[in-house]
Amino acid sequence: MGTRAVLSTWTERRDAGVERLERLLRALEDTDAQLSTWRPDSEVSRLNAAAGSGASVLSPSLCDLMRTLEHWTAETRGAFDPAVGALTAAWDLHGRGRVPSQAALAAARARSGWHRLTFDAGRCTLRMPAGMSIDVGAFGKGEALDRARAAVHATTSDGPPPTGDRHAAWLIDLGGQVAVSGVPPGTSGWDVSVAHPRRRETPVLRLQLPSGSLATSAGSERDLRVGPRRIGHILDPRNGRPADFDGSVTVWHERARAADVLSTALFVMGPEKGLDWADARGIAAVYLLAGAAPAPVVRASRAFRARFDAIF
Ligand code: AMP
Ligand code: MG
Repeated sequence: MGTRAVLSTWTERRDAGVERLERLLRALEDTDAQLSTWRPDSEVSRLNAAAGSGASVLSPSLCDLMRTLEHWTAETRGAFDPAVGALTAAWDLHGRGRVPSQAALAAARARSGWHRLTFDAGRCTLRMPAGMSIDVGAFGKGEALDRARAAVHATTSDGPPPTGDRHAAWLIDLGGQVAVSGVPPGTSGWDVSVAHPRRRETPVLRLQLPSGSLATSAGSERDLRVGPRRIGHILDPRNGRPADFDGSVTVWHERARAADVLSTALFVMGPEKGLDWADARGIAAVYLLAGAAPAPVVRASRAFRARFDAIF
């Protein structure tokens, strides 16, 4: 998915640790093979290529995923919407960036939005009009992390791990999103940090993560420039333009896919609406706003403050 993965594990036995890393990595690779639009042969690429030529039958795992994406698109009122492939193409967000003409933008908007595709969750079919496509950018990493977790936990769910390995702790860092399980011996969590919204090398918040996943959506991460103009890589699907927020938002959630989707949706909503929305749903989110001062302004939801009270 055009990213780098760093996997870490703690183990009492080398063979158990190596085996765990292999399982985690294989799950990431399998997810990439199914979802990545950087690969022409992935299931999602084939689905996108079939737009305009009738309904496609989805594999059970992609069908499950689509059900969840449909739920999140409705729940966020379209702030998150994976059916924005025509818009990301119009702005060339996966290339060098481009400001589309009014006509090109209007055409892309007419081919974007979940409400324009037909997903039959019972039959597991998806039909998209010609020119429409699914963009996995806002949920693919989260899905991969959840599948990696399931891949190692499926084997150890009943009773003790077969290897007798008590310290089955691991962390995966996909750049912009981490997921953890267990804690390193003698600690109460993995040390992770949230970067400055404009300078990703500068850590601003240092958190101890005992479980779940932390996802960040940020301007600095992958924004593009066309001449003097910054083109944010996160779009507001409702007007087809890059969202104007230029800070970052980080979400903690037990499920990596939810953290991934929610950080993108909250970025689109911006800090004012986003914090109300998160508080109304008990979502743990923190916005960093870069201003004139060297340190960014930190605005956290109630659930985030409660979970990471040590830093407040
Ligand atoms: P993230 O960095 O997880 O917030 O995901 C951003 C990526 O998701 C972008 O690079 C696009 O590929 C895609 N994307 C942009 N805006 C949206 C949106 N509002 N909903 C869903 N996907 C989006
Ligand atoms: Mg995301």
